[in-house]
Amino acid sequence: MLIDTHVHLNDEQYNDQLDNVINESINYGTICFCVMGCDYESSLKAINIAKKYNGSLINGKQIECFAFVGIYPGEILKNQYSDNPDNIEWIKDLYLNNKDVVKGIGEIGIDLYWDKTYKEEQIAFFKSQLNIASNLNLPVSIHAREATQITLDILKEYKGKVKGVMHCYSGSVEIAKEIEKIGFKLGIGGVLTYKNTKLVDVINELDLSAFVTETDGPYLSPSPFRGKINKPGYIKYVVDKICEIKKLDYDTVEKILENNAREIFNLRRS
Ligand SMILES: [Zn+2]
Repeated sequence: MLIDTHVHLNDEQYNDQLDNVINESINYGTICFCVMGCDYESSLKAINIAKKYNGSLINGKQIECFAFVGIYPGEILKNQYSDNPDNIEWIKDLYLNNKDVVKGIGEIGIDLYWDKTYKEEQIAFFKSQLNIASNLNLPVSIHAREATQITLDILKEYKGKVKGVMHCYSGSVEIAKEIEKIGFKLGIGGVLTYKNTKLVDVINELDLSAFVTETDGPYLSPSPFRGKINKPGYIKYVVDKICEIKKLDYDTVEKILENNAREIFNLRRS
């Protein structure tokens, strides 16, 4: 089975069609979903979606659906958490009250692409959420845009205490190896199917044990769906590409990628 380790099924673009999206995904082989939170409301919505679908039987397949809770760097500036990075006890509470489906902290990190003004605030919030992850022994899903080095430097401070996935990785082979060294995996999605992507070198140079699959849906659809809404089932196209690069058969690659995701996110086998 395929695992979508990073998807926003709580995004309003899926609102009316969530049942269909999940049905379609199952037909493609994606049966496990990790739904990311971006703030309190979307974290709560992720939990509600996970509770609705986790364990349900659809088309003869038992669905696994989990939630990650946290504050996305882009959300830090525009909500009530903006002034105090210690005022995020709700993240811990959401986990403690919903341990059956909450499997990690995410999507957290640093984004200096849109706005560098609040860099220090982003760092503070990122660290306080890493502290929560460390204290609760939960994995994290990391967003780093125009901020790979600074994010990596912070994660190095947490080496051995926090593990997780560098989501939507699209950087160099060198940085990929550094990320692997601190116990993180690289989330590979639609970008791998785009023309002239450097990611082909990363897949080539690192062992298959370094990677997990993801969509970041509804964003970043793989070719041939580029520009359209992304769906967890489309991971199949990413795995096809990995098979082509690694010259391995689909079943082997699928099994290894599933195991990688289960190991890094502590997802029990159903
Ligand atoms: Zn995301």
